[in-house]
Amino acid sequence: MRPETMLLHAGVPKPEQGGPFLPGPVFAAPFHAAGDPAQSNYTYGRFHHPTWTNYENALSALEGGSAIAFASGMAAVSAVLGSVLRPGDAVLMPADSYYSARVLAQGFFAEMGVKTILAPTAGNAQKTHVAGAKLVWLETPSNPTLEVCDIAAISAAAHEAGALVAVDNTTPTVLGQQPLALGADFSVASDTKGLCGHSDLIMGHVAVRDPKLLEGLRTWRTQIGAIPGPMETWLAHRSLATLDVRLTRQCQNALALAEFLTQREEIATVRYPGLRRDPSHAIAAKQMHYFGSVVSFVLPNKTHAERFLSACNLVYEATSFGGVHTTAERRARWGGDKIPEGFIRMNAGCEALEDLLEDLAQALEAART
Ligand SMILES: *Cc1c(COP(=O)(O)O)cnc(C)c1O
Repeated sequence: MRPETMLLHAGVPKPEQGGPFLPGPVFAAPFHAAGDPAQSNYTYGRFHHPTWTNYENALSALEGGSAIAFASGMAAVSAVLGSVLRPGDAVLMPADSYYSARVLAQGFFAEMGVKTILAPTAGNAQKTHVAGAKLVWLETPSNPTLEVCDIAAISAAAHEAGALVAVDNTTPTVLGQQPLALGADFSVASDTKGLCGHSDLIMGHVAVRDPKLLEGLRTWRTQIGAIPGPMETWLAHRSLATLDVRLTRQCQNALALAEFLTQREEIATVRYPGLRRDPSHAIAAKQMHYFGSVVSFVLPNKTHAERFLSACNLVYEATSFGGVHTTAERRARWGGDKIPEGFIRMNAGCEALEDLLEDLAQALEAART
């Protein structure tokens, strides 16, 4: 079955007369479970849950491994770091990775005696730093700078050095890129972003092939309690059905917006892995099926960028990305990333392209004065 079809059919129960296509959320904390707990599929909602089972079965089919759902993307990131790293270990992270992942490694995990080594995503720089690491953390394309690295090449080097490899696959989603098939041990994602795509829930997941790694993640989730609620899990599963149609439209719009932005004289840099002349394009084309919904570009300075954002009528000024609405933000307002003050991260949504182009054109004109 092709992934586009799996999105609709994976993880849903066999058709049953009078039954729904996708069963609704099960609201239960304890389940009826008399006697030996091992005789019951479900006992208590922090250990296992039927609504998770359906969603995780769908993700497992798509990832080509076993998936486990978490309360957020950061809960998924923490589960990988927490189940793998012990005092004295080192983790190699991208210098340009998602800010909170770096803060977690360099804050909490550093205090616990775990060393963090940083190397940039661009140019596969992490490949030459794998020696001595217990875990190599990749993020490609990286958020927000959209640098790309070669997952297969770095995974091979890391495995040779005895390290495990995790890929933060949030930006492309599992439909856009399959880290496990490219050689990674962990595929990690914030499902809050493109995977669920409606800006209405926070969730995450991890997928692995090795049953021992899965057991470590499951134990971590049960003991830490970073579990998703049934309502969110059901909404996430429901959202999977439209992932392909959403991504197809969003990527078309992203590419067209990127091409439009490169023609503007006040914009020095436009990054989108789908642009042929983008430095990331060659590797991205090799390992990605979709180039993603995120485009970044740099306006001359902070006030120019702020004028642009407030002149947009259709484009929402908001953080996060991957949703069906086009959004943009001046990313440097948060701090923590090495980016210019005028750096804009834009998420292409599902609107009619002409409306987006008209809005961007008028907002860019307004921002010039
Ligand atoms: C948003 C994001 C996360 C964290 O996900 P949450 O769902 O907000 O916890 C992790 N990695 C990347 C690349 C992200 O964009």
